[in-house]
Amino acid sequence: MIGKPSAAEDAPQAIEEKFRLARLAQAQWRRTSLSQRVAALRGLWSEIDAARDELAEVIREETGKTLTDAWGVEIDGAALLVKHYARSAHRLLQEQAVPKPWLLINKRAYIRYVPRGVVGLITPWNMPFLIPFGDAVCALLAGNAVVLKPSEWATRTALYLEDRVRRSGIFPAELLQVVQGGPKAGAAVADRSDMVLFTGSLAGGKDVAQRAAARMIPAVLELGGKHPMIVARDAPLVRAVQAALWGAYANCGQMCVGVQRIYVERPAYEPFCEALAEQLKTLRQAAGGGFDTDIGRLMLPEQLERIARQLEDARARGARVLGGAEVDRENLVLAPALILDAKPEMQVMREEAFGPVAAVMPVARVEEAVALANDSPYGLAASVWTRDLRRGEEIAAALEAGTVGVNDLGTPYAVCGLPFGGIKASGLGARHGDEGLRMFCWPQSVLVHEWSADGPDPWWFPYSRAKANFMRWLARLS
Ligand code: NAD
Repeated sequence: MIGKPSAAEDAPQAIEEKFRLARLAQAQWRRTSLSQRVAALRGLWSEIDAARDELAEVIREETGKTLTDAWGVEIDGAALLVKHYARSAHRLLQEQAVPKPWLLINKRAYIRYVPRGVVGLITPWNMPFLIPFGDAVCALLAGNAVVLKPSEWATRTALYLEDRVRRSGIFPAELLQVVQGGPKAGAAVADRSDMVLFTGSLAGGKDVAQRAAARMIPAVLELGGKHPMIVARDAPLVRAVQAALWGAYANCGQMCVGVQRIYVERPAYEPFCEALAEQLKTLRQAAGGGFDTDIGRLMLPEQLERIARQLEDARARGARVLGGAEVDRENLVLAPALILDAKPEMQVMREEAFGPVAAVMPVARVEEAVALANDSPYGLAASVWTRDLRRGEEIAAALEAGTVGVNDLGTPYAVCGLPFGGIKASGLGARHGDEGLRMFCWPQSVLVHEWSADGPDPWWFPYSRAKANFMRWLARLS
């Protein structure tokens, strides 16, 4: 139902039982070969892809996003991820021989990647399929079982995924299970997992990190952002305007990497604002709209209040506010808002909006924009726009963000070889990239003495001055 979370809440005993079953399933799954796991996940994906209309409908009904966002971002994003990790799983997870000093020539050294056990995924509502599914694919490929605690605002998509995994008959029963409920259920999952990957707010992330620290289990935190977009005077303006429009309003602005602050160098400021204001009028909006709509609705009623407060604050501090009217309160449809002449102290420049709001502010020089961009607790995504690509890359290097784009945004998530994570209050660790698969294992270092069978190593007892000199000589040669 629109504007209401699911009331279902698994009791602690039920969660405990799910973990018990997950451990049984994992004991079986971890014994399968990597090739079998890759084949199983490819098989699951072809079944899901074949039913993409049904899945897109579930996502659309649950979130009110447009069909293009459901297809293009959630489902095709997942397709890219499956393809990427199915191709790279062997390179990343098979035993890796490591170089060693020649004085250890008679030994073999390698790393074995051992699955962690049961991975707890605690996920938000804004990408109810892509985030849980993508993280589950990596955790499963690595040989783990998954207990997924989706947002209480988006449980149906997760239950659909659980059902598909079960019905596929490809995996041991209970290898992927869903726990329903809110923060309490999330805490119960964190308290029982062997590793936890949390995606959501800073407050929730800190809580989960503390629980993980108390049990000494790894925690990866993927938190909020406040994407600064820096538009230099020589920016390719048409592309930059279109990027701002998509970056700020796609998924109705409910994206952690969504553009929220736009700093434009003075000479480009008025043309940029004019063009963006014009483009804003072209957006077609409908809650859960079809392929011919651009943006949908908000997910939580409290977003209406938060955004109204941010727009009011901006107006009171002298900004020009375009759009932002409540079109349909009951269905949480808020017209996209554009704030011009923003100032750094405005709420909209400091707090995560997580809705269809972008704020534009003029700057005298790009260096000022970089300082303002970095003056934020967040450090998730940022972008810079200039025709001078070398300078763009230099500016990008000065930005405190886990993901930076030069004349680009949003697409890093689709390049799964790139780690995706934030710094500062935006998180700890990263999904994707090589580490995004390996982190679901612990690395076991193995050293095998191959010859001679009986001889001791020269640095063992008894010690002597001559032995110490000999060892020094050996180490120097290595
Ligand atoms: P949220 O923190 O309210 O909830 C996220 C999940 O955590 C839900 O499943 C929720 O039930 C659970 N949860 C909340 N508090 C918890 C606690 N104390 N202990 C255990 N579990 C808890 O966040 P949300 O509103 O669902 O999502 C929006 C936030 O997620 C935004 O800040 C957004 O930027 C961020 N986000 C980040 C990424 C990323 O990859 N960095 C991706 C998507 C969304």
